[in-house]
Amino acid sequence: MDIRTDIPLKSYTTMKLGGPARFMGEAQTPQDIATIYHNARPKNLPIFILGGGSNLIVRDEGYPGIVVRNLIKGFTVIEDTPQYTTFEIGAGENWDETVKRTVELHLTGIEALSAIPGTVGAAPVQNIGAYGQEVADSLISLQAYDSQEDRFVVLQNIDCGFSYRHSIFRGEAEGRYVITSVQLKLWKANPTPPFYKALEEYFALYSITLFTPEAIRDAVIQIRKDKLPDPTLQPNTGSFFKNAIIEKWQLEDLKPTYEDIPFYDLGNGTYKIPTGWLIERAGLKGKLLHGMRVHDKNCLVLINEAATGYSDLAAARDEIIATVRDTFRIMIEQEPLEIQ
Ligand SMILES: Cc1cc2nc3c(=O)[nH]c(=O)nc-3n(C[C@H](O)[C@H](O)[C@H](O)COP(=O)(O)OP(=O)(O)OC[C@H]3O[C@@H](n4cnc5c(N)ncnc54)[C@H](O)[C@@H]3O)c2cc1C
Repeated sequence: MDIRTDIPLKSYTTMKLGGPARFMGEAQTPQDIATIYHNARPKNLPIFILGGGSNLIVRDEGYPGIVVRNLIKGFTVIEDTPQYTTFEIGAGENWDETVKRTVELHLTGIEALSAIPGTVGAAPVQNIGAYGQEVADSLISLQAYDSQEDRFVVLQNIDCGFSYRHSIFRGEAEGRYVITSVQLKLWKANPTPPFYKALEEYFALYSITLFTPEAIRDAVIQIRKDKLPDPTLQPNTGSFFKNAIIEKWQLEDLKPTYEDIPFYDLGNGTYKIPTGWLIERAGLKGKLLHGMRVHDKNCLVLINEAATGYSDLAAARDEIIATVRDTFRIMIEQEPLEIQ
C-alpha cells in the first residue's frame, strides 16, 4: 500500500484550512484498514480516518500520524421483500450518490438526506440528519474494525448510541472503530405527511401533492441550493454549530423578551432552538469575523473567506459563542470534529 508523506490536509477538507498530515494512506478494502493499524502500532503512530473532509476542522499543526482515506466501495442488496430492501454499502461510497441510487429504486428512508456531502462511513458518526430524517432511522447495523480489540465487529443500531448529531463514534468510542460498511433498510412506500416545515412550504408553493421519494429528494436539493453555500466555491462545513437544546425554564425565561423565539418540543422536557436564529438575533448575520463570514442566508454556516489559519477560525467561533451566551445565556457548540 502506498503511504505518502507531508500531505496538505486543507486540500482534503471542505473548510480548506490547516496543516499537513505526516503520512497519508488509502484503504480500498477492510483488510487494508487492519494492515495500516498493524504497521502503525509498533511505531506508535496515531491514525485518523478521513472521509470527504466535510465535517472536519484541521489545526495549523496538522496531524502527526497517518491519515487514512476510506475508499472502500460496495452497494449490495442483502434482502428484498415486497415491503423493503436491505443494502450493505461500503463506507467509502459517496453519501449523496447512495441516496440517489436508492431514490431511483423508489425507496424511502434517506431521501431527505439528499445533497449532504461526504461518505457513507461518516454518516453514522454524527448521525447525519436533515428535513426530518436521520441516518439512525434506517440503519440496521454496521461493520467496523475495532482498533482496540484488533478484530472486525458488527454493531447493531442500538449499540451505536445514536441521538441528535451524536453517536458513540464521536462520544465514548471516538477513534476506536473504523466503519467499513453499513446496512440500511429502506421501504417500498411513499413518505407520508406531515413533513418538515420547509418541505411543506415548498410543496405548497409548487402545488406538489404526490409525495414520492423522488419529489422529496428534488425539493430538498432545491431548498439546500438556496440556503447553503457550495463548499467547492465558498469553503465551509455546512452547519458550524449544533442547534441548541435547552430546558423548559430557560425557554420560559427567554419568552417575555423574545416573543417570537422559535422552538421545537423534544417531548422530554427539553426544547430545540435553531442556533441560526440565535446568531442572527445576536446581530451577527453576514458579519466578517477574523476572515470567517457568517452566511447571510443561514447563520449556522461559517464561510472561510480569508482566514489565514485555524487560529482565525477559532477566534471567530469563540466570538460567536460568547455573543450568543451574553445575549441569551445559552451555550452553543461547534458541530464539526477537529482532527488531533
Ligand atoms: C455544505 C454542507 C452541508 C452539510 N449538511 C449537513 C446536513 O444537512 N446534515 C448533517 O448531519 N451534516 C451535514 N454536513 C456535514 C457533513 O457533510 C456530514 O457530517 C458528513 O457525514 C461528513 O462526511 P465526511 O465523509 O466528509 O466525513 P469527514 O469530515 O471526513 O469525517 C468526519 C468524522 O467522521 C470520522 N469518520 C469518517 N469516516 C469514518 C469511518 N469510515 N469510520 C469511522 N469514523 C469515520 C472522521 O474521523 C471524523 O471524525 C454538511 C457539510 C457541508 C460542507
